[in-house]
Formats: sequence, structure tokens, C-alpha cells
Amino acid sequence: MATKTSPLSDTVLNMTESATLKMAALGREVKAQGHDVISLSLGEPDFDTPEHIKEAAKVALDEGYTKYTPVPGIPELKQAIVDKFKRENGLDYAPNQIVVSTGAKQSIYNIAHALLNKGDEVVILAPYWVSYSAIVELAGGVPVTVGAGIEDDYKVSAEAIEAAITDKTKFILFSSPCNPTGSVYTAEELSAIAKMLQRHPHVYVVADEIYELINFTGKHASIGACPEVADRTITVNGFAKGFAMTGWRLGYMGAPAEIAKACAKLQGQATSGANSIAQQAGLHALTSDLAPSHAMKDAFAKRRELIIDGLSKIDGLKVNRPQGAFYLFPDASAFFGKSNGEYTINNSDDLAEYLLMTAHVATVGGSSFGAPNCIRISYAASEEQLTEAIRRIGKVLGELK
Ligand code: PMP
Ligand code: GLU
Repeated sequence: MATKTSPLSDTVLNMTESATLKMAALGREVKAQGHDVISLSLGEPDFDTPEHIKEAAKVALDEGYTKYTPVPGIPELKQAIVDKFKRENGLDYAPNQIVVSTGAKQSIYNIAHALLNKGDEVVILAPYWVSYSAIVELAGGVPVTVGAGIEDDYKVSAEAIEAAITDKTKFILFSSPCNPTGSVYTAEELSAIAKMLQRHPHVYVVADEIYELINFTGKHASIGACPEVADRTITVNGFAKGFAMTGWRLGYMGAPAEIAKACAKLQGQATSGANSIAQQAGLHALTSDLAPSHAMKDAFAKRRELIIDGLSKIDGLKVNRPQGAFYLFPDASAFFGKSNGEYTINNSDDLAEYLLMTAHVATVGGSSFGAPNCIRISYAASEEQLTEAIRRIGKVLGELK
């Protein structure tokens, strides 16, 4: 008799599950068991989408924008993205270089599948967003991570990146402001990377700028504005974070025309054009006053002070000072090897589990972000929740001996 084997593909059996989504689901589970869980695991603004954007969606629905759209996006939105890239980022993309997608995640998925052959390498700057390595692997590529620690504000130097580049490198991939560290690469740091890449003309750049609007340092810098790499930079952005539109599923990229066309071709066989109503709302968001986005950023800045202040007082936690996004990424390695009698902490995943089960605070262990000494804390939560979370984290970490 034949033995029963799994019907699932090797691809799915071998891939890792998204750690952020997994911890969010686990947090919901513990909550459903009746515990008062404070969820600091998911990277999602706690604010509602600004009213004027919701209004634009209602109008779009009433006006009958309910049909399939062109795969790379409606022309008005593509033009608004071209204008935005030019106005705010100093980037020169034409409409045929824009592809609107069902979220920045899909944009990155499209790029990886459009560019990678089996065995091609992608240099990923660590700490990195959990899905980068999984997406590269799904496309047959090999993630090559190059990292920096808290002492370097988690920012990787041009020299370190260069040391990781080989003949097989297809692109480098990073986010700034960065998920999970909140670090922001300055114009000078990006320029140094661009100048280094002059020596490696076969390497493309994928710059994920989805946290652009949540930047506490002032001016956002785009590597695509550096002349050395302008014609080989793919800039990814979206609406989820800066406009509090995570559930609307809308993102976009600007890319060399050949790559944009390939991404649209892929998307045409996978999901088609993005949601018609979301695109009308996105058009409105990009062409309206950014005051509501700036107000959310100011609220995040205030919470950043609260969480830095609170967690810095906990013995053993080494706290960073993020310049953007809404994550804190403390080094918690001082707790490794300690125990409260019931739980022993051997790594960051153990620590995240310990915090969830004993303090009922959901975070994400750093190993999935390529930083096994750290934990990610999303401070997109109310000040009351953050204050209580800090108190609980301090208490249970104090119980580890
Ligand atoms: N890039 C980064 C760095 C992210 O944190 C996320 C998480 N939302 C994404 C891309 C995906 O964004 P979207 O929700 O638009 O797919
Ligand atoms: N990007 C967010 C995070 O890092 C949302 C969840 C996800 O898609 O990973 O938590």
C-alpha cells in the first residue's frame, strides 16, 4: 500500500511562514483565551484611514469605478505617482515605468520573480523585513545577508555591502526608514552606496520606501536620486503605512521600463490590476494635503519618546533610537541563558514567547529579521497601552535570573 504523503508542493513545505503575521495570530489566540493582550507585534498604524481618503472611495463607488483596471494601474494614478516621485523624491520615472499593485509586498514579489533566475543572489541589508528573504527564495534566488548591529545604528556601510557582492548578485534590497529597526539612511550614506555600485554595473537596487512619511529626521532621501544608480533603481512605495491604509492593499513601484513591463506581465497572470476603488482613493491621497499623515507621524514621534524612555530604564535591554517608522528594536541578548524557573530564554524567539505568555505583550523575535539578539516592538499603539506594556515587560524581565 502506498504511504500517504502530503499533497503540498515542496515550495510551500520548505518556505517559512511570515513571523510578523504568525505572532499577530498567536497574540489574537492568547487574547481569545481571555487574556488582556497588548499587541505590539504587527506593523500596522492604529489610526483609521484619514476621512478625506475614505470619502474619495465612497465617491468612486457611487460613480461606478467597479470594473477591471489596466494591469499596471489607472493612468491618473500612475501620473500622480510620477509627479510624486519627481516632486518629493527627485526621481525621474515616466508613466510606463510605474506599476501599481496590491500592496508593496506584491511589488517586491513581482520584482523578485521578474529578475531572478535560479541561484541568483540578492544582497539583503540586515536587520531586514521578514518577507524579503522568503520572497527571494520563492523566486529561486539566494538571499545573502549583510548586517549591522545596534552600535552602528543597524546601518550597513557601502564597504560591507561591496564585500557581499559577487558576479551572481542581481540586486541589493533594503528599506529606509527600516522595518524592523526604524533606522533611516541619510543622503550621504545612500550616496556612498551608489558610488560603490558604480564599480558593479550589473547590480540593481531595490529601495523599499514604504515608511517614507514616518520619518522624524526631516528629509527623506531616495537612493534612486543618486545619478550613479538612477537608471537601475527600483523604488517601491505604498499607502499602507503613511496613509494608514493597510487593509486597502495598494502599493506601487517605479522601475526601468523593461522591468516595469515584466512586473505587469507577471501581475497580469496572478492578480490583474489592483482594486479599482482603492486606486481612486490612492489617487486622492497622493494629490491632497499631507497634513493628516504628518499628524500621525507627530503622534508616533511622541510615542517613540515614551517607549525609549520606559524601556531604557529596564536593566539589560539595550535600546536604539529609531529615526523613522514605528518600531523599536532593542538588543535583548543580556537575557539569553536566564530563566524564571518555568521559561528558559535561549534566544529572541524564546523571549518573545516569554513576553507573550507571562506579560501578555505580543512582540516579534529578531531572528526572522536576521538579528537574533533583538526583539521588535511596534509602538503603533495608544500611549496608555504602551505605558502598561512597558510596566509589564519590566516586571517579567526582572523575574529572569
Ligand atoms: N515593506 C516593508 C518594509 C513593510 O514593513 C511592509 C509591511 N506592510 C511591506 C513592505 C508591505 O506593505 P503592503 O502592506 O503595502 O503590502
Ligand atoms: N509589514 C508589517 C510588519 O512587519 C505587516 C505584516 C507583514 O506583512 O509582515 O509587521
